[in-house]
Amino acid sequence: MSINTIGIVGAGTMGNGIAQACAVKGLNVVMVDINEAAVQRGLTTVAGSLDRLIKKDKLSAADKDAALARIQATTSYEDLKAAQLVIEAATENEALKLKILGQLDALLPADTIIATNTSSISITKLAASTQRADRFIGMHFFNPVPMMALVEIIRGLQTSDATHDAVKAMAEALGKTPISVKNAPGFVVNRILVPMINEAFFVLAEGLATAEDIDAGMKLGCNQPIGPLALADMIGLDVCLAVMNVYVEEFADSKYRPAPLLKEMVAAGWLGRKTGRGVYRY
Ligand code: NAD
Repeated sequence: MSINTIGIVGAGTMGNGIAQACAVKGLNVVMVDINEAAVQRGLTTVAGSLDRLIKKDKLSAADKDAALARIQATTSYEDLKAAQLVIEAATENEALKLKILGQLDALLPADTIIATNTSSISITKLAASTQRADRFIGMHFFNPVPMMALVEIIRGLQTSDATHDAVKAMAEALGKTPISVKNAPGFVVNRILVPMINEAFFVLAEGLATAEDIDAGMKLGCNQPIGPLALADMIGLDVCLAVMNVYVEEFADSKYRPAPLLKEMVAAGWLGRKTGRGVYRY
């Protein structure tokens, strides 16, 4: 199946980023959100992001206009019928996603592939809620989507080879590097990343080094662009804690126990950059 029109549900951080990445590569996009204000915010974000590319000489004004012209931003799910692939990128809430998937499954032609950008919900479980489990898959993009090269392509237990291959080819057409992953909590990247961040909180609490030295160690010793504690402040300490709690529950393995210092800081409301204080002060 050739994919030339992508539907996107949700025009937030990830939805509008995916829309931009698709539109600049010549794909038509139908981007849906719940109200006109959300849709317009998404479009304004894409326009601003394209303007920054123009300033850096990475895009021409004509290419910006052409990309924006390819994005149909709407509040009507009906418009998604034109797409061969619909990517669900709505708020991370299982009940909400199940409701949206039910709507999409009833509405879309039988051969339309549905993908979800969920970070934490089982692809196998979401697939099972549809009548097209073999044509359901995870496409986990990274933020900011236009800049980040990786897409984790996550197969549920039911996902067909044809679905996997079509979605992988589409990710490559976007200029991304897909990796193929089996469904499991945290997929690959967050499964490794978040326990590493959690370990940095153990190291900090044990007084082995200062936060600055822990971050400098991982930057200079492992070539990481940002230290794990500074990264925790960016992601949100509450998000890191929630992810560790999911691993504890899903794997029933104490190696994922959250660091007491991480729990303590979350309890204090020190959630990172978004609250002005986390490991560091902002
Ligand atoms: P966001 O809050 O920025 O955007 C979510 C959007 O979904 C909002 O605009 C909201 O109005 C819309 N929405 C809610 N209900 C809807 C409905 N019924 N129909 C259509 N739109 C609806 O969230 P986000 O950060 O873009 O996250 C979206 C998804 O991507 C989540 O599943 C999240 O886990 C995943 N994700 C996020 C990141 C990240 O760094 N932000 C990275 C990878 C994956």
